[in-house]
Amino acid sequence: MNRFIELENRFGARNYQPLELVLTRAEGVCVWDTDGNRYLDMMSAYSAVSHGHAHPRILQAVHKQAAQLSVASRAFYSDRLGPFLQKACELTGMDKALPMNSGAEAVETSLKAARKWAYEVKGVAPDRAGVISCRGNFHGRTLGVLSMSTEKQYRQNYGPFLPGFRNIEFGNAGALRSAIGPDTAAFIVEPIQGEGGIIVPPAGYLADCAEICRQENVLLLFDEIQTGLGRTGQLLACDHDGVRPDGLILGKALGGGLYPVSLFLCRSDIMACFRPGDHGSTFGGNALAAAIGLEALNILEEEGLVENSRRMGERFIAGLRAIDSPLITDIRGKGLFIGMEIDPERASARAVCEQLMGHGILSKETHETVVRFAPPLIIGKQDIDLALEAIETTLNELND
Ligand SMILES: *Cc1c(COP(=O)(O)O)cnc(C)c1O
Repeated sequence: MNRFIELENRFGARNYQPLELVLTRAEGVCVWDTDGNRYLDMMSAYSAVSHGHAHPRILQAVHKQAAQLSVASRAFYSDRLGPFLQKACELTGMDKALPMNSGAEAVETSLKAARKWAYEVKGVAPDRAGVISCRGNFHGRTLGVLSMSTEKQYRQNYGPFLPGFRNIEFGNAGALRSAIGPDTAAFIVEPIQGEGGIIVPPAGYLADCAEICRQENVLLLFDEIQTGLGRTGQLLACDHDGVRPDGLILGKALGGGLYPVSLFLCRSDIMACFRPGDHGSTFGGNALAAAIGLEALNILEEEGLVENSRRMGERFIAGLRAIDSPLITDIRGKGLFIGMEIDPERASARAVCEQLMGHGILSKETHETVVRFAPPLIIGKQDIDLALEAIETTLNELND
């Protein structure tokens, strides 16, 4: 067995089950293993690498900023944080932004904001605030966030969990209306469920949720950590429905594919609930993170990545639908956020991913039956067509 696999297995926790290859280099849409084999990266680190690996402008921003000022803590102002937050707010149409590092931390921040708002603005009685989330959600791995999860394995033997959460069916606005009570602070939802299997809700669902939340004085929180920043062919996935949430959570691609940067964005009156000392993070919003986040947003705009995601996504989905294979039971998605559902009677999604690897395509299954395709948003026609060919070959081989 490869020495590096052995070392990870010997000294690391076994909380992942990686495919059997060892990566050593990456550039653009490609990664290389230690044997010199090249692969097309069709999952972009769960959408964290939307800009492609080692984007020259991100690298330049890192070199420049790292040598100048990186981590000074929020005990002081920096000349990088303000411009980053301004850009993020202007681009997304939100008033204020609070920087964190990982996605889960930004989700925790949104829940803390919602609870504070419920007590201080809505007038919910102490310790009564509730949050509604959807079955099949994925919002991260911290204990607070897992309190919303319905995934048995993610929760097993981690209890007790936080009280105050309630789950409803995803994609059903009526279920939201019935679940709201006088103590409901917020409804948190992914515009397209990612880890849940690339589940696209009915058109108009997000707009209906927005209307219900407005009527009921409940905060609408969109977790766009995976769907945001061009992944679905719009800047935000909620743009497909033409709605803005009260609170927005961004992460993953915000770090330009090389640094953890996340944001909780919201209206001024909600953010006003946080006062000095109420919440924080040592590394959150440091100058290096801010410089990278700002450059990641600039690149998105200036290099037309959102538009490319839409066009390449259409090509990819059309190509997948044209593949005639009994293994495929469904193709769904928006932009370059695509799920291919595999008939479990014929093959596991894991087996498809392993076979794809042999044809130079890297992807990762979500659950037992869905293969996800989410390449960097810089991908071109040629690589899309190359991937489609390899996918067709793979499915034919597995059907023999
Ligand atoms: C990945 C993800 C998270 C968690 O982000 P981390 O950076 O892994 O903590 C939260 N929500 C969604 C929708 C995600 O896809």
